[in-house]
Amino acid sequence: MDARERLDFLIQDKNLDADLKKIAQMVQQGQRISFQQGVLLYERGELGYLGVLANYLREKKHGDYTYFNRNFHIEPTNVCIYDCKFCAYSRLIKERDQGWEMDVDGMMDIVRKYDHEPVTEVHITGGVVPKQDLSFYADFFRRCKEHRPDLHIKGLTPVEYYYIFKKAKVSHYDGLKFLKECGLDSMPGGGAEIFHTDVREKIAGDKCTSEQWLDIHEQAHALGMRTNATMLYGHIEEFWHRVDHMERLRQLQDKTFGFQTFIPLKFRNQGHQMANVPEVSVVEDLRNYAIARIYLDNFEHIKAYWAMISRDTAQLSLAFGVNDIDGTLDDTTKIYSMAGAEEQKPGMSTQELVELIKNAGRHPIERDTLYGVITDYKDVIFAEEKKANYYSLPVVE
Ligand code: SF4
Repeated sequence: MDARERLDFLIQDKNLDADLKKIAQMVQQGQRISFQQGVLLYERGELGYLGVLANYLREKKHGDYTYFNRNFHIEPTNVCIYDCKFCAYSRLIKERDQGWEMDVDGMMDIVRKYDHEPVTEVHITGGVVPKQDLSFYADFFRRCKEHRPDLHIKGLTPVEYYYIFKKAKVSHYDGLKFLKECGLDSMPGGGAEIFHTDVREKIAGDKCTSEQWLDIHEQAHALGMRTNATMLYGHIEEFWHRVDHMERLRQLQDKTFGFQTFIPLKFRNQGHQMANVPEVSVVEDLRNYAIARIYLDNFEHIKAYWAMISRDTAQLSLAFGVNDIDGTLDDTTKIYSMAGAEEQKPGMSTQELVELIKNAGRHPIERDTLYGVITDYKDVIFAEEKKANYYSLPVVE
């Protein structure tokens, strides 16, 4: 049975709750579901039901294609003027001796490490410190582009930009325009957390507001940059806060069409001030991916960060709306491991990523940051796989 037939079958089920049947029919007809229906999916949608709807939409948009890229991260500092309660990664300014603060030369040393590697993207994010200001990043973006023009710079979030632009007394638009001229290509999705003030003030009250976060993305879209969006879920928020978060993203996307990918981020509970809050189950992770795929009908891509949720859950997520599992990483990020993720040294070879996708029955595609196809791995056989055909016979003593 294919995804379309499974959805037909589900809709025929006489025991299906009438409200859930209505949503399934709307999905089949390509109609947008409402805020209330989004909440209802969280409250009453079982995993199997949500999987059928989300997989139908995923296969309608992308078939079996599952994307990954070859990337590395630079985290210029883990010292931060802010004090988000869920953050295991950062150190306050008064604890800066326990952290790291790179200069531009140090960041360029990391870029040069990849000189002979076929990576396509550098992802830059970290804490917020006064000396890493507008001229610091302008200098780095320029030098990085001069050194390696083909490397896509996906840099910083509105949390950093809000502080940097305010300090430099420039508008969001002018600041981004300037950095784009220096080499910035696109923006990752971090710092969104949960938009609603009730939650945001409790977990991340001192950094940029939701309105500022959304405005910086809107200005980036106006400059022709593509950006991503995240949502930190599974802590003190209620279901409707998640829907409210996605609703704000859906509205901005209707206006600009500048978002590429939505990335739900699982709250992990180690090493920070919210360690007493239990983590949600893998079932809830999968339900959340599926509802994101259904609710965000104007987002092309839903991504699971394998480094955050484990390789196994990333494989499972491919049946619940996810069509992208991020990149090779090469152990260049500490953000997930310091918060308690299973992957303590996150890095996967291209072969491992390809096999992970193939073993889940999907079609691996290496992409660039903007989803241009670099390599279709459907029929690629790696040298190591070929070697496995040569058996060494047991030796009897
Ligand atoms: S989440 Fe980001 S802004 Fe908040 S404390 Fe950590 S590094 Fe700083």
